Amino acid sequence: MPTVRPKKKKTKHAAIARLPGRPVKPTPKLAGVRRRIDSEIGELVRKRAEAEAAIAEARKSHERLREAIDHLPQGIVFLDAEGRYILWNKKYAEIYNRSADLFQPGARLADTIRIGVERGDYPEAKGREEEWIAGRLAKMHQPGARHEQTLADGRVVLIEERLTSDGGVIGLRVDITELKQREASFRLLFDSNPVPMIVCSLDGERILGANDAAIEHYGYSRADFEKLTIRALQAFDSQLPWTGDLSGDEQAARTWKHVRADGGLIDLAIYSRQLVHGGQPAVLLALMDITERKRAEARLAFMAQHDGLTGLPNRNLLRQQMDDMLQHTRRSSEKLAVLVLGLDNFKAVNDTLGHAVGDMLLRAVAKRLRSTLREEDAIARLNSDEFAILQGGVTRPEDATLLARRLLEAIADPFLLDDHSVVVGASIGIALSPGDGDDSDKLLKNADLALSRAKNDFRGTFSFFEAEMDARAQGRRKLETDLRDAISKGVLQPHYQPLVDLATGRITGFEALVRWPDPERGMISPAEFIPVAEETGLINAIGGLMLRRACKDAAQWPDDVRVAVNLSPLQFRTGNLLALVMDALKQSGLAPRRLELEITETLLLEKSSQVLATLHALRALGVRISMDDFGTGYSSLSYLRSFPFDKIKIDRSFVQEVDANRDAQAIIRSIVSLGKGLGVTITAEGVETEAELSCLRAEGCHEGQGFLFSRARPQGEIVALLQAQRGLIAAGGKAHEAA
Ligand code: C2E
Ligand code: MG
Ligand code: MG
Repeated sequence: MPTVRPKKKKTKHAAIARLPGRPVKPTPKLAGVRRRIDSEIGELVRKRAEAEAAIAEARKSHERLREAIDHLPQGIVFLDAEGRYILWNKKYAEIYNRSADLFQPGARLADTIRIGVERGDYPEAKGREEEWIAGRLAKMHQPGARHEQTLADGRVVLIEERLTSDGGVIGLRVDITELKQREASFRLLFDSNPVPMIVCSLDGERILGANDAAIEHYGYSRADFEKLTIRALQAFDSQLPWTGDLSGDEQAARTWKHVRADGGLIDLAIYSRQLVHGGQPAVLLALMDITERKRAEARLAFMAQHDGLTGLPNRNLLRQQMDDMLQHTRRSSEKLAVLVLGLDNFKAVNDTLGHAVGDMLLRAVAKRLRSTLREEDAIARLNSDEFAILQGGVTRPEDATLLARRLLEAIADPFLLDDHSVVVGASIGIALSPGDGDDSDKLLKNADLALSRAKNDFRGTFSFFEAEMDARAQGRRKLETDLRDAISKGVLQPHYQPLVDLATGRITGFEALVRWPDPERGMISPAEFIPVAEETGLINAIGGLMLRRACKDAAQWPDDVRVAVNLSPLQFRTGNLLALVMDALKQSGLAPRRLELEITETLLLEKSSQVLATLHALRALGVRISMDDFGTGYSSLSYLRSFPFDKIKIDRSFVQEVDANRDAQAIIRSIVSLGKGLGVTITAEGVETEAELSCLRAEGCHEGQGFLFSRARPQGEIVALLQAQRGLIAAGGKAHEAA
């Protein structure tokens, strides 16, 4: 870096002053000259010192300026009026790294550019070198001009040059390589995005850019499209929701129906976001086709409130409707009637004609019920074969009676389904607000209780809710809690009732029957608590403990005595029955052939392949399978075909009075001969009298069970009973005498 020093002036007086060794005799004139010279010399020395101080000061500030500009993040360069380098900073040298040898103080920018071009530093100049150089230099004289320059290594530099007051130039250089790369990827993201996107000016007057998806969306050519304003699009999209102000920087979409270029109607959502485009604030609009989403939402909303099969409102929607209607009745003297209608024979129809016909029936029932109602009544499907009807404007209970009759009549006519003429009955339970409850839950619950009553007592008709029904329901709830308690305390236990071979009088086995001794209520009957256990799922615990205890106890008995255990259909649904049986056998060491499992016909009602598979697997273990309560089901004979039972237990209702009733005799006779044909043991349940016994013997029935032989007894009595009985048989006595 050069520093400019002032040249030393050699004056005449200074030369005289330095003449050595010649004494001069002062004359008055000379003395005057000398004084003047001395004072001039003094002045000169002072001025020189001042000048040197100024120069030192200037040099210092130059250094400070240099240091300061070296810290700038941009490159900076100062040129004089002739375009020569005066000063530049580190960053400037760094940006033009490869050309660092080109600029020297006093060198001309034009020359360094030319050398750079010749060396290939500026790829843009290639092939049109002179033109490019001329253009580059011209830009320097356009005040405030900015332009970009690409360097040979791919970096991009932003150049901004300004003229200074003395005709020189200050130039700024910013390395914008990264920015450029980011811009390029954004560009790609925008251009090839499948979501239509438009960039427009804040006022919506100009479209600054649109991607291909947007062009296609609106169906214009690109050239035409870019001439449009957002307001023009508004005419196209008549419902385009905004009214001028696009400046709101919102993420949330506005949605509307849009007629697409091809005429299709779609749901569109628009997302707007402010951004900077070409240095100006602008708005990015993204148009999302949300037709599918909307449709799915609507479907979901409908599904959440309606029953898929009949299209009727479901329980959720019914509750809302009921709340509204109750609100209304509270302000008037009217009542709301809630009618719960249950089909009487739906299960049988499903079972015999199949689910497809069952579904058709439900749809047809829904349609008939709906057409029986007035516009202001509401209807919903509650569960498989139950419907709820809300009747508003009721002033007397008779209003509900009339409607119930009309509904029952509507259902009574046969339904023609798929060439089948199907007759289903229905029963109705009715609850009235506010007397039977003034909220939807209570009214529904009470109407349901009334329906159970109607189904149990007067099938095919209707029943009003009565407070006593509620008490009964509460009793049931108490039973459930007590049962839970009894199970956890291990109070439940099996008692064993003997099964007797009618020909020999020998005890062939025992049926395990669950017993619940209760300090307050005495022995609670399984007929009372098994249904509750099945409703609540507690049956699985009971079934498990009965099976384990029965196997363990039976293992103590003689080897030719079997044990029979009752299974509930629900135990087949949990899926671990097979494992449970295997485990109980293993733990007890009981031979599988000594275990009999009793199932009822209801298990086979559903014709489930999983149930049959489990039964076959159990039988494959060596366990025997009995059909319990035979003859009480819907289609007893057909079930015998679906599985090879080892034993059939004829229900007590056929055995009673078999001695007096010829029909019962005929039935037993045919079951016995059927059993012989199939090689199945036939057991008669509920033998109470000698007369019944001899009649059963005469018909050839194999086995009997009943109070005549013995009631069910605790394990402690069984071994003694067996010993006594076997002793008696050995002595020629009869089994029941020992019992
Ligand atoms: P079930 O399997 O048909 O059992 C026979 C029922 O008839 C028993 O009633 C028994 O005490 C009764 N009984 C036996 N002989 C006579 C008689 O001569 N006259 C009369 N009137 N009744 C007689 P219990 O013990 O009250 O059981 C009723 C039902 O409860 C059983 O009918 C069975 O279905 C069910 N049950 C009992 N224990 C269990 C169990 O551990 N698990 C399951 N799932 N159900 C069980
Ligand atoms: Mg049984
Ligand atoms: Mg039975």
